[in-house]
Amino acid sequence: MSSIDIFSSGTNLLITLVAFAVLAFSVCFSGQGIKIGKGIRYLFIGLVLEFVGGWFGYKMSDYVQLGISINILAFLELFILLLSMMFLALSASQLLVSNIPDTPIIGAITALGLVSILYFCLIAQDGVMVSYMRQIFPLTGFAYISTSFWSQSGHKNKTGFLLGGLLTAGVTVMLICRLLGIATELISSMWYVSAFVYAGLAVALLIIKVDFLNKKLEDKDTEIEKYNKRIEEIIKLSPFPIIISRLSDDRLILANNNAIKLFGIQPSELERYRLKDFFADSENRRLLTERLEQEKVVQDFEILVKTSTGSTPFWLLASANIIDYNYDIALYAAFQDITSRKNREVLLKNQAIRDPLTSLYNRRYFEEEVTKRISLARMKGGCYSVFMIDADKFKNVNDTYGHKVGDKVLIELSSTAERALRDCDIVARYGGEEFVCYLSDVGPEKAQIVANRLRETISKIVVYSDEGKPFNFTVSIGISSSDISDNIDTLIKTADEALYRAKENGRNRCELFTKADFAKFNSSAETPHKDEASQLHPVFEKEAAEEISLLDGIGANHIAENNTNIEEQKTPQTQEQNKPQDDYIPILGLDDEDMK
Ligand code: GH3
Ligand code: MG
Ligand code: MG
Repeated sequence: MSSIDIFSSGTNLLITLVAFAVLAFSVCFSGQGIKIGKGIRYLFIGLVLEFVGGWFGYKMSDYVQLGISINILAFLELFILLLSMMFLALSASQLLVSNIPDTPIIGAITALGLVSILYFCLIAQDGVMVSYMRQIFPLTGFAYISTSFWSQSGHKNKTGFLLGGLLTAGVTVMLICRLLGIATELISSMWYVSAFVYAGLAVALLIIKVDFLNKKLEDKDTEIEKYNKRIEEIIKLSPFPIIISRLSDDRLILANNNAIKLFGIQPSELERYRLKDFFADSENRRLLTERLEQEKVVQDFEILVKTSTGSTPFWLLASANIIDYNYDIALYAAFQDITSRKNREVLLKNQAIRDPLTSLYNRRYFEEEVTKRISLARMKGGCYSVFMIDADKFKNVNDTYGHKVGDKVLIELSSTAERALRDCDIVARYGGEEFVCYLSDVGPEKAQIVANRLRETISKIVVYSDEGKPFNFTVSIGISSSDISDNIDTLIKTADEALYRAKENGRNRCELFTKADFAKFNSSAETPHKDEASQLHPVFEKEAAEEISLLDGIGANHIAENNTNIEEQKTPQTQEQNKPQDDYIPILGLDDEDMK
């Protein structure tokens, strides 16, 4: 299309070259990363060659004057134009979806053109044919390109192709007119056509690029939509409850049927719920969030949850990870109900640390827990006390009322002790009819008061025999405290020693193991104390024990008839010793303040 007029005027040439530069920039930008990038580059090479061919034709007379053969010059000019046609055809092939005309056709046409050039320029020189070829090669190239652009312009978002098609079709029509000799003068003077077409093509290529990017985005959207649909289907079919929630606001985005049932969610108001609404334990939730922040994926994490209506909390095993979902960063969480497993675990744990008859802690748990508590108390400089409680003449209860009633007595004793002491204290069954208690922040003086209140409260418990006859029972309590030792074994031993004294001094009483006792206790550890018989601890002493039975002096029937308190059977001296203190406060309902 290059008209002689472009090269005859510096201004025309400059304008055309500027348009060319714009096209070059557009080619560089548009050709990056799109499917037809190669076609765009071929188009540019084709146009450059066509421009160079035109320039060569313009300069030919100068070269002839330099003595170069006109045939050779004509051959070179046509050869450049042929190459231009070839690149335009290659470009057209790339721009077309079906890649037609393809390489063999282009190769065949180029070979035919080359043979024609050789024949008419060098073998049978023919000026008319040369002149035709000079016009036919660019015409063919533009016809190819134009066809390709048009072939793409029927679809949506194809403005760039349409513009390219219009421009190249215009050039093709102009070249046909020139070939047919129509308006030759006018066409030759239209130097600006090239600049106009280059600039127009630059715009067309940029539009193509933008459309291409839009299409890519649309494709991505469709792909994401398809991917989300697939995820949704998989999630819906899952046998496990699954929830997807947005990370930014914690709102639910998706919940499958199992999750809807499990959490009591209204499916139509999914976004109303936040994942945190279902956590029964905020600390539990904080730990899960912390792990997710660190590791992005969390597996088999035990969480305590509740339904949307806030029912009894239940345990779930959660696996969660952060995913991209519907253009959001979301939390994908799958759950498994492990409530029954958890209950079993709690049961087993309880079995390991609790006594089956009284449900109190067992001796092992008591010793372990109290050892920890003592360490803590030592760090804080706090005090503590230990009680060793033993039912008085319990053998007689068994003998009189039977073991089942004896068990009932132990249960009553346990629950009364637990109720009477604070939540922070520990009551445990040490063995048989012996119980131990640990009281935090209670020194020896307060411990004596508390122990006496407890003893009195226990003595007021009424138990019924199988025949429905009421009776009472008493306990003796030995007390040791942080004044004596911070070793659990020593504390128990010394409390036991005090209990021994309580038994010896008449039972149904409390005895404190003092510092003075401890000095004696340590020295007597080396030398045997008391006579042979008295070395037997009354708690374990069976036959040798002095028989001061709960039921001494009265028959079982007699107790039933009179609802006699066993206390009343004691000697006056014993009662005197165990008289309630003036500042007596019922131990039941005793709160932490009282204890301080
Ligand atoms: P003391 O005042 O000196 O402590 O006299 P005691 O009769 O309580 O002492 P002893 O050690 O002679 O008796 C304890 C009895 O406790 C013996 C045992 O049969 C009974 N005992 C131990 N464990 C249980 C139990 O789980 N259930 C019942 N019913 N009796 C138990
Ligand atoms: Mg006993
Ligand atoms: Mg005993």
